[in-house]
Order: sequence, then C-alpha cells, then structure tokens
Amino acid sequence: MYILVTGGTGFLGSFLCERLVDDNHAVVCADNNYTGSVENIKALMERANFRFIERDIVDPFPNDHTLPRFDQIYNLACPASPVAYQGKAAIKTTKTSVIGAINMLDLAKKDGATILQASTSEIYGEPLENPQKESYRGNVNPIGVRACYDEGKRCAESLFFDYHREEGVDIKVVRIFNTYGPRMNPRDGRVVSNFIVQALKNEDITAYGDGKQTRSFCYADDLIEAMIRMMNSPKGFTGPVNIGNPGEFTILELAQKVIAKTKSASKIVFKPLPSDDPTQRRPDISLAKEQLGWSPQIALDEGLDKTIAYFANKLGLW
Ligand code: UDP
Repeated sequence: MYILVTGGTGFLGSFLCERLVDDNHAVVCADNNYTGSVENIKALMERANFRFIERDIVDPFPNDHTLPRFDQIYNLACPASPVAYQGKAAIKTTKTSVIGAINMLDLAKKDGATILQASTSEIYGEPLENPQKESYRGNVNPIGVRACYDEGKRCAESLFFDYHREEGVDIKVVRIFNTYGPRMNPRDGRVVSNFIVQALKNEDITAYGDGKQTRSFCYADDLIEAMIRMMNSPKGFTGPVNIGNPGEFTILELAQKVIAKTKSASKIVFKPLPSDDPTQRRPDISLAKEQLGWSPQIALDEGLDKTIAYFANKLGLW
C-alpha cells in the first residue's frame, strides 16, 4: 500500500514509519521538523520503500506528481508536549491541528484514502470521571494555555466526523494517552524523559505541584501496534478509541521508580504546577480490547528499563 505519515520524523511517527517500511509498504513521511528530527529517520533514508518530504501540513498539499495516490494517511503532525506547544507556538499548534486536519482530509477525499487521526487524551481536559471512557465529553478550559492543543485536537475530531458524514471519507480516530520510549526528545520537557535524564545525571528530579497527579504510561511499541490495528479495522469503525496503558501512577511514584532503576543520587524537588495540568489520567481501554483485540503488553517497569538504557547510551553514560 501507499501510505503517508504526517509527523513522521517525530518520536512516534518515526517508529510508525519504521514498522510500515518493514511491512513492505511504500511510505512517504512528511514533516516540518519543528519537533521532529531527520535524525529519527536516518536509518530509514537508506530504504527503497521510504521517502521523506519536508512539508508543513498547514500548507495545502500541492498536486505533486511525484507523490503516489495514497491508500492510507496517518495524521500525527502536531507538537505534542506542553513545552513545545505553549508560548510562542500556541497559534501555530491550533493551525496545525485544524488547518492541517482540513488539508489532510481533503487529500484523503481526493485519493479515496483511509485517514487516521492521532487524537489525544487531552480531549478530556481536567477529567471529572476516572478512568476516562470514549463517551466522556471532557472538561477543557477553552481559554487556557493548553487550549491550543486541547481545543485544536477537539476541533480536528469534529472535522474528521464531518468529513465522514458529509464527504464519505473513511476515518479512524484514536485518542492517545501519555506514551514514552526511546527517541523521546530530551528537551521537550515530558515527564518520563525529564526524570530519566535528571536521574542519570544525578540532578534534582523536578516534580511539578505536589507530584500526586496521575498519568498512565504506554510504551511506544504498544501504541504503534494499536494504531496499525485501528487503521486496518473494518470499514465503518471510526472510533474514537482510547489507546493507552491503564496502569495509573502518581508522578512521585514515577520519580521513585526512575531513581531506583538508575541507582541515582538525585533528590526530588518540587516546582510550581503548570496551569491547567490535569490531576488524573487513566484510559478505559475496553473498546480497544473489544474492537481491535488490543491491550498493552509492556508494563511500566519493563518499558522504563528499555527507555533508561536508550538515554544512558545517548548520554554516553552506560
Ligand atoms: N511533570 C513533572 N515534572 C517534569 C515534567 C512534567 O512533574 O519535569 C508532570 C506534569 O506537570 C504533568 C505530568 O508530569 O502532571 C505529565 O507531564 P507531561 O508533560 O509528560 O505530559 P502531559 O501533561 O501532557 O500529560
């Protein structure tokens, strides 16, 4: 199949491209490299069935005759970490989510492609239900600093369903909960990469707020498997489907695990909680289990070991 992956030089996008190339598909990876990096696809550049194009999905895809007619489009392009999407990139983040979605949906319509949207647990905002089911409509602050991402992704979901209803586009929507693994960008401020790098360097571990807020952490390989299963699920099954690991941990528990695993001398210090930081996050994955036969296989302890080994190697420590 001919497959387009937007956001393909990012942390998750590059793993997805790798898997699709290994499965012998012809893969085009499009990215503007705002948070992604060609470093992540270096090995793929050698592969005959892989091509990288530097593109921003906010710009319409021109009629480029060197591009194939796509059978499938995975739309992952968007800065995903609060540090990357807040501040100076907020307006651009909304544009990427909304205008980017319109451009990719138009392309899917033109090509007759199935299109998968990488949506997010941020749809649920500060959830008043735990765990979160897909039927929960969320509790998002529409004017806060996270709104560019949360509302951008909510609007993208709305566009996907309107293109499905009005234009007959074959859509698939997954809501991705916190995901971690090798290749996370150590500068993008995510909790797993921050804690591992801090612990490996014996620096203070920065817990925001009281550290009692919870997250559920899914290992990257598990997530990629779920996305591929969703894309290839029976026509008409649109989702949204939660994809995540239902194990729920406080940020302090995560810090303690990382310190123990790295045998670090780091101390936990407390920093102010960023605004609108959700207090709890845990996916109900019954729908993914039922419709995709999927559940995560890699527990946090195992995934952390692999991720720590990656960062230790990258930092030249182990
Ligand atoms: N966090 C933290 N220390 C850090 C980075 C993040 O305590 O150095 C917290 C953050 O406040 C949030 C959780 O960890 O409660 C997850 O943050 P991340 O940015 O990884 O993901 P998101 O907030 O988008 O779930």
